[in-house]
Amino acid sequence: MTIQLAGQKMLLGGSWVNRENVIEVRDPQDNTLIDTVPAASKEDMLSCIELAKEGAKIAAAMPVYERMAVIHRAADYIEENKEKYASIIAQEGSKTIREAAKETARCIQTLRISAEEARRIQGETIPFDQMEGSQNRVGYYQRFPIGIIGAITPFNDPLNLVAHKVGPAIASGNAIIVKPATVTPLSALLLAEAFSQSGLPPKVLSVITGHGSEIGDVLVTHPAIRMISFTGGVEAGEEIVKKAGLKKISMELGSNSPVIVLDDADIEEAVESTVSGAFWAAGQNCLSVQRIYVQRGVMKEFEEEFVQQTNQYRVGDKLSELTDMGPLITEKEAIRVENLVNEAIEKGAEVLTGGERNGAFYLPTVLKNVPEHCSIAKEEIFGPVVLLFEVENVDEAIEKANAVSYGLQGGIFTKNMDQAQKAIAHMEVGGIMINDSSDYRIDAMPFGGVKKSGLGREGIKFAIQEMTEPKVVCYKLSN
Ligand code: NAP
Repeated sequence: MTIQLAGQKMLLGGSWVNRENVIEVRDPQDNTLIDTVPAASKEDMLSCIELAKEGAKIAAAMPVYERMAVIHRAADYIEENKEKYASIIAQEGSKTIREAAKETARCIQTLRISAEEARRIQGETIPFDQMEGSQNRVGYYQRFPIGIIGAITPFNDPLNLVAHKVGPAIASGNAIIVKPATVTPLSALLLAEAFSQSGLPPKVLSVITGHGSEIGDVLVTHPAIRMISFTGGVEAGEEIVKKAGLKKISMELGSNSPVIVLDDADIEEAVESTVSGAFWAAGQNCLSVQRIYVQRGVMKEFEEEFVQQTNQYRVGDKLSELTDMGPLITEKEAIRVENLVNEAIEKGAEVLTGGERNGAFYLPTVLKNVPEHCSIAKEEIFGPVVLLFEVENVDEAIEKANAVSYGLQGGIFTKNMDQAQKAIAHMEVGGIMINDSSDYRIDAMPFGGVKKSGLGREGIKFAIQEMTEPKVVCYKLSN
């Protein structure tokens, strides 16, 4: 089977359509034009929602075995064409080809798990006779799809994060409209192509390419959309929450994840894991390791090892198998990161390595002694910069780790169960990894944050809970 290059057309209610107004998709490393996609209008989004109303009825009527078969076939299609998928992720985004291949493999997993979870959407019986007067009633609750889901997705995992919304939506019998990030729409269109080839009935899935500022509001505020599933930055997330009105909301937002390294840790393991966690996808990762709190006894050793491994990073052409780190998504983003680092340096931070920009590329950067009032110590960097802090003990580390407004995931390296248990109990995060960095995830686990990092959970089974509603059934018996 030969795969078409998605692009130039978007999937609107079952039809692949193009538009005169287009968005140029460019490779961030050299600004070459890869493709164009339609710049959808408000009217496009409105007509898509009308078609999705029919799609929701079709999706809800699909028996579970058909939903499972369709999702597995989409996963098969991606597996058969995985090099093409990885190549598009790497070209339009900032991942290296090796990172893009991993994302493609994760996407296949996400879809397979979605298909499997479709058979586990269950209710339970309700003992109505617990209330006096209800002795003659029996019943249960059953979960039903909510209708149409509006999905808005970011640039940094342009395939798998879309699959995390589309897979569970179809598995649970919903229609879904995806608005992918404007800079990386091709991977989402390729996912739509896999579903077009899989026998999914038309109108169940749409992928509408366009600017969030233009078509976002139509999707977010429309009363027929019963849930907004958003992954992206806090600013856009808060704006959407204010506008959405009475509908379900799932928010997967940013973070500035902390990792604690205690004196008894395996330093080699801690360094390897945190270097990878800090610089994966050039630090443009919601789970990225941003703040490392190292106990005084191992600070020197950890710092030396960390800088040495960082210096071995090969930064350059994303499409080369030898490259470890590519550019940021735009030069503007690289300048934003540069400004954050420069502000910290002016306020007294020490650069252990990195701190240099070349176009959209920013070298992997390690900072020390960053004053706590710097923006970089409080906000999400979303770039290849990591901060090292020396601490006295686990209590100080936990207090400092919590002293920010985010809380997605955290990590602690220690062999002491009591210390690990303290971190589990007191770190304000949605997930805590013991002897792994914050950047650890499998697609089947509950995933999401506390504080400004989000609302609700993804991870297929958990997304399905959010995308369905229980309906109670009660039989009154005659005697
Ligand atoms: P972003 O700027 O917030 O954009 C995310 C999506 O929202 C894009 O599709 C964007 O469309 C759309 N959008 C922006 N403003 C909107 C509005 N007012 N109404 C409707 N849609 C709107 O985020 P990004 O730069 O792509 O991604 C980086 C952020 O995502 C980081 O903060 C990162 O931590 C977070 N993230 C979180 C998770 C998680 O699971 N917690 C995972 C990955 C990323 P346009 O592209 O057209 O502007």
